[in-house]
Amino acid sequence: MDRRALGIAGVAVAGAAGVTALLRWKLWSHGVPSAPTPPVGDYFDPGELARNRQYRRGVWAMAVAAVPIAPAVALAVAGTSGRWGGPLARLARGRAWRAGLLFGAGLSVAETLAGLPVGAARYGWGREYGIVTQNPPAWLLDVAKGTAVEAVISAGVACGAAVLIARAPRLWWAGLACGVAGFVYLSTLLAPVVIDPLFQRTRPLDDPVLSRQILDLARREGVPADRVLVNDASRRTVAANAYVSGLGASRRIVLYDTLLRDFPRDEVLAVVAHELAHVKHRHVLKGTTTGALMAIPGCLLCFALVGARTGWGRAATPGGAGTRLVVRRLAIVAATASVAGTLATPFANYVSRTYEREADWTALRTTHDPSAQVRLFQGFVRTALGMPDTPRALQLWFGTHPEPIERIGMAEYAARHPDPAG
Ligand SMILES: [Zn+2]
Repeated sequence: MDRRALGIAGVAVAGAAGVTALLRWKLWSHGVPSAPTPPVGDYFDPGELARNRQYRRGVWAMAVAAVPIAPAVALAVAGTSGRWGGPLARLARGRAWRAGLLFGAGLSVAETLAGLPVGAARYGWGREYGIVTQNPPAWLLDVAKGTAVEAVISAGVACGAAVLIARAPRLWWAGLACGVAGFVYLSTLLAPVVIDPLFQRTRPLDDPVLSRQILDLARREGVPADRVLVNDASRRTVAANAYVSGLGASRRIVLYDTLLRDFPRDEVLAVVAHELAHVKHRHVLKGTTTGALMAIPGCLLCFALVGARTGWGRAATPGGAGTRLVVRRLAIVAATASVAGTLATPFANYVSRTYEREADWTALRTTHDPSAQVRLFQGFVRTALGMPDTPRALQLWFGTHPEPIERIGMAEYAARHPDPAG
């Protein structure tokens, strides 16, 4: 690697560290007590967990197996660009934007196909244990829709990147960072209204008593609860959940119909209080901003690797050879982004867990009902065949939420330390 590339890569790493420091200071949660984790045996019968453990072992094995698939495909594609770059450039008739479209869609479909065996095994495993309720044709239809959506997005991003790489050999990384950051915000804003309806149906919550209770919780947390929806999760799973998505006008809280069907009212309210806390602390906006900011050092790192592998200048001859160089550079960008994105998973999930802890704590301080929260997490483990405590390394890599037993520990802490103001 030449000295220039090393220097740029160093700036990228320093930039990522700077963004992390900014997040630590401004965007992460503060003021959540660290509660002791109680013994699992106090809340769960080891005999009842045997089946859950069996199920989870399979899920974990498949999750681990899936991690290297996309980066391996992207690296293989980048490593063989000498072979397919020429034909692709010819197919695109020498135009960078067309080559970008083809490359983006092709890579996305290749990654999906490579991941399909593990995805099918996961589906079959879930069916076997009765967690997944979706029939095979419906599952395949979802896979097809997901593949199409990802291919369109990937084609669009790669098209923009190809044009930037072709036009601005020294500054494309900055344009790409701006484009990616804008796309991250736009996708958070639009996904609930454009993408989600492809995969689920939602309806407004039509329970006047529950709606009133939710509005009361929202008033106490000081947030609007104008859009509470119920989806048709029961068509796909027996697990219960809820989430908040969107920004501004597209913001909504979505409750799984399985949650309303299978959980008592006080536990549903504990879930809603948690989701409202995400709104109160602006976690969706903060998470989106984290992703958008990280695009800057990420694109700089891509620039360093592209420079190291293909030089820094424009292609000598425009047209065919130039477009071949553009797709080679594009493939290096895609491989770098895929590897870096995968390696960033534990970091993103660490941030996610801090948000979840903050939402749990705020919910406890709003509902003043820690026992409902304890029963809720017991119920989540029961219905989703979960494990109250995940092996440490798996939790560090995959854990978007604190483990159920940790969350129970926080509820018990809240019970021992009632809010003096509440
Ligand atoms: Zn949450």
